[in-house]
Amino acid sequence: MNQSITILQLYPRDMNIYGDYGNTLTLKRRLEWCGFTPRVIDYNLGDSFPAHVDIIIGGGGQDSGQNKIQADLLSIGPTLKTLADTGVPMLMVCGLYQLFGHGFVTADGTQLVGIGVLDVTTYAKPQRLIGNVVTKSHRFGEIIGYENHSGQTFLGTHAKPLARVVVGDGNNTDDEFEGAYYKNVIGTYLHGSLLPKNPLIADFLIRQAVINKYGTFEPEFTPDDHFTRLARQVAMKRPR
Ligand code: GLN
Repeated sequence: MNQSITILQLYPRDMNIYGDYGNTLTLKRRLEWCGFTPRVIDYNLGDSFPAHVDIIIGGGGQDSGQNKIQADLLSIGPTLKTLADTGVPMLMVCGLYQLFGHGFVTADGTQLVGIGVLDVTTYAKPQRLIGNVVTKSHRFGEIIGYENHSGQTFLGTHAKPLARVVVGDGNNTDDEFEGAYYKNVIGTYLHGSLLPKNPLIADFLIRQAVINKYGTFEPEFTPDDHFTRLARQVAMKRPR
């Protein structure tokens, strides 16, 4: 089998904190284990958007990093929206989760406009939400990670939550939701990195990408997640 899958990382220079690059490494390695050839393309400020991508991922960033990439993100917003509508799998963590929504009003009152792929809106609050998080989801079971954000995100009527918080805050301090999804686009506050700790989400992104491109998903080998399961049990018991 010589099938390739192209992963596009959005703004790794400006939006890539708390280990989010681990998401790229996990996708790469799991694709290899399954017998596919991964290609990783970085999309940074001012780059031209590639003609073909199979998975898109994006990480978190400081408010200043979000401000820096905002205009460029709006310029590629219609392309990203079309790709989301056609079922391209995407994972957006924290800062880019916020900007995949309608927008983020930061602590100093700056209004960052988002691209509206997800029906969510974010407002900075005085209390920063920091610490380990455990959630429960229908699709991926327990999702675990680490959050650190001032923005609190609220779901619009069309948004579906990714999970419910068991430990931590997730989207905000008012409701128990964490993250949101639309079609195959997942938005979440969870760093960690997320995908090494939650391989079911990695495999979901991979499976969708392969089916979109090649029609069926027939991995040559199924990764052994024995040690990941043990590590998850420890991570779930860690203090907030
Ligand atoms: N700057 C944003 C906030 O503080 C996002 C932070 C992050 O990506 N961790 O809410």
